Amino acid sequence: TPEIISAMLERIEQDNIRFLRLQFTDLLGLPKNVAVPAKQAEKALTDGIGLDGSSIEGFVRIEESDMVLRPDPSTYAHLPWRPRENGVARFICDVCKPNGKPFEGDPRHVLRTVMADAAKDGYVFNTGPELEFFLFKMLEGRPTTQFQDVGGYFDLAPTDLAEDVRREVILALTEMGFEIEASHHEVAESQHEIDFKYSDALTTADRVVTFKFAVKTMALMRGLHASFMAKPIYGINGSGMHVNCSLARDGKNAFYDPDAPLQLSETCMHFIGGLLKHAPAITRVANPTINSYKRLVPGYEAPCYVSWSASNRSALVRVPAPRGNSTRVEFRSPDPTCNPYLAFAAMLAAGMEGIREEIEPPAGANGNIFHMTAAERERAGIGTLPGDLAEAHRALLGDDLICKALGPHVVEALTSVAQAEWDAFRTAVHPWELDRYLATY
Ligand code: ADP
Ligand code: MG
Ligand code: MG
Ligand code: MG
Ligand code: MG
Repeated sequence: TPEIISAMLERIEQDNIRFLRLQFTDLLGLPKNVAVPAKQAEKALTDGIGLDGSSIEGFVRIEESDMVLRPDPSTYAHLPWRPRENGVARFICDVCKPNGKPFEGDPRHVLRTVMADAAKDGYVFNTGPELEFFLFKMLEGRPTTQFQDVGGYFDLAPTDLAEDVRREVILALTEMGFEIEASHHEVAESQHEIDFKYSDALTTADRVVTFKFAVKTMALMRGLHASFMAKPIYGINGSGMHVNCSLARDGKNAFYDPDAPLQLSETCMHFIGGLLKHAPAITRVANPTINSYKRLVPGYEAPCYVSWSASNRSALVRVPAPRGNSTRVEFRSPDPTCNPYLAFAAMLAAGMEGIREEIEPPAGANGNIFHMTAAERERAGIGTLPGDLAEAHRALLGDDLICKALGPHVVEALTSVAQAEWDAFRTAVHPWELDRYLATY
């Protein structure tokens, strides 16, 4: 509306902003942006800014490539790491077609659509992600896999040389409106986690993109490379992005029921039922890289079986102990290479189907699932997550509900990406093969 636009223009003026970055993400969840001088703000906010969609991964073919970026005023943020004088601010944008309609390939639109569907039943989907990452040394401007420290879980300085990076990240993100809840050294050498407070899934997805961008920027300013790759080093923990999920209705946590078993409402149990039913297909978007599947192996706190539990961390879905307003289910498979918009959309669609179809989850698995034999797992109804990207993609194509939630445009684009990635990987000669066969044969 004109009022919002004029308030925005005033704010830009007050904040001494000279450049605006109009940001969106491609199919892979990688941030893209175009910078415009602040003088263009009125035009950008009123009419949007043109974009050639044919150059963006997963967007469109050449013949239908004219797109428009429409800044979402609620995402305005000053970039604190840029100079304060003549500063830079960003807007996250919705991508529209020339006729003004939302573009089906815009991941933000995909999530908005699934959230609007849940809103018909009165639900707001809240997510709180836990992003893990490594800080690696750089050599001649290139990232290496050399650790920057040798600290472990919850270690303190001087082992933890990354304190300064974490501090800078927290200061910057706080200035950008994040509420940081905790930050700590993770289990592996040079591995870290910073947690921010949950919010509705669209806001959170925007924040995940901003978070990765901010961490990479702060690390680079100290000569380090921050990597969100799922499993950078064989033999030690990979990086996950656990997603804590809850539904709110009428301002209350719909997963909490003080009178129910475990104090978990039927809504919560059915949501878990839906998540487990569609877990294989969700994996395609929660774990989208070839490397993601090197993390989903036994022994490193990452899930590989489809189960839930209120007590142990080997399950795919864990229910953390807090109740009341903090009642939530933690979905533990996603890793930080995921496109958060698509991953949240798939999770919500699955959970909503669980609620609407009243899908009961199997009994909770309370022992360590990794200690069970295959036969014991089968008897307990515990399935296995896809073992590689090709299998995950087949699971997606076989799941009508998740395909419908993502929409045909996105599914088709994901198919091209999966095929290209899988062919490249399948035909590459891996160092492991040379180690194994070169001398023997
Ligand atoms: P963990 O015990 O698995 O390490 P953390 O404490 O690191 O969990 O992270 C918990 C996350 O859950 C935070 O992002 C927090 O904001 C989020 N969270 C808390 N309550 C809710 C809720 N009701 N719905 C969704 N997320 C929530
Ligand atoms: Mg955590
Ligand atoms: Mg914690
Ligand atoms: Mg962690
Ligand atoms: Mg966790």
